[in-house]
Amino acid sequence: MNQRLSDWAKNISPSPTLAVDAAAKKLKAEGKDVCGFGAGEPDFDTPEFIKAACAKALAEGKTKYIPSSGLLELRERLADYYSASKNVKGTKFSNIIVSPGGKFSCYIAIKAVIGQGDEVIIPAPYWVSYPEMVKLSGGVPVFVQTSDASDFKVSVEQLENVVTEKTKMLVLTSPSNPTGAVYTRDELRKIVDFAVRRDIFILSDEIYEKLLYDGVEAVSPASFSDEARERVIIASGFSKSFAMTGWRLGTLCAPDDVASAVGKLQSQMCSNATTFAQYGALEALREPEKARESLEAMLAVFDKRRITLLDGLNSIKGISCNRAKGAFYLFPNISSFGLSSTDFCSKLLERELMAVVPGIAFGAEGYVRFSYAVSDSVIEKGLERIARFCSSIG
Ligand SMILES: *Cc1c(COP(=O)(O)O)cnc(C)c1O
Repeated sequence: MNQRLSDWAKNISPSPTLAVDAAAKKLKAEGKDVCGFGAGEPDFDTPEFIKAACAKALAEGKTKYIPSSGLLELRERLADYYSASKNVKGTKFSNIIVSPGGKFSCYIAIKAVIGQGDEVIIPAPYWVSYPEMVKLSGGVPVFVQTSDASDFKVSVEQLENVVTEKTKMLVLTSPSNPTGAVYTRDELRKIVDFAVRRDIFILSDEIYEKLLYDGVEAVSPASFSDEARERVIIASGFSKSFAMTGWRLGTLCAPDDVASAVGKLQSQMCSNATTFAQYGALEALREPEKARESLEAMLAVFDKRRITLLDGLNSIKGISCNRAKGAFYLFPNISSFGLSSTDFCSKLLERELMAVVPGIAFGAEGYVRFSYAVSDSVIEKGLERIARFCSSIG
């Protein structure tokens, strides 16, 4: 044995966002008064009616294998949701896969279409897992830099500059983690035209599709035309919209050939996502009124925090922050302080016991990511701490 571990294993980086969260939790466990803004999950419990449906399924013995692609009724209801509410016309249950998490949905979609040497365009700032997933499939991530000046949105001109014969996929995340930016219908239409013209896939990560503010809508790139539907793979799931991160339930809505390939991959890699958990998710779709109520309650709280944090950050000299319209993140520009984002974050943690994620983790130097899935008191305390910190380094 000349090397015990594979090249894949040796070259993969661990998730930096989970690492920041872990560092903050460790300080907290030592009794330190840490303000952690690293969280990538809602600080709400899963709605009771969803938990109750899962508990009932468990009590009834729904503890066995089911078809690998998911509960039929759940897939049918998801297909209805995509055709009726998201305007992805003609979606059938066979286009839907229920997976063990939105993250796995992205990975398995990439696995299904990306092979050795295929290029995948990833606009930066990006969600940390995409480049690693592409590399694990033998593909080559090709980054396109965006900034707060374009509200972190990529333009067709930028895409035209990097597209090659080998380009097979573009990754789009709207609403975005880490920036909270949401593409408008017109912006998406242009990008979809590009993808159709160049005959490339779009992996559309819509996990934050329901976390929207200021009256914006989350349009799916699959909704524009038949040509778009043939090329768009939608990854989503229950984690963010229903505060179900620990349930590990994701979804995919994909064209026939991709869905069938993903189904085969999933059957060999992990069988089905947890059976009784799927009954909980099913209840969320069977009871749209209750689902809407709990979502709206969560959104009202998020929105208030978004504005408090946004106004607070923009009142600090040297920081400027775009008004994010989705998800639960703000991505302020801290470049005026002349520190790398990593130095900024480590000094902030060291001096003020405050955890935020360096922009470089998302491929964007000069920014940091705040999650506002934290309590009002943490936001208030955090704003005082970062203001003091910035005046000491400014
Ligand atoms: C949270 C997240 C996901 C998926 O989360 P799961 O917990 O695996 O469902 C996917 N994409 C982005 C951008 C996310 O932030």
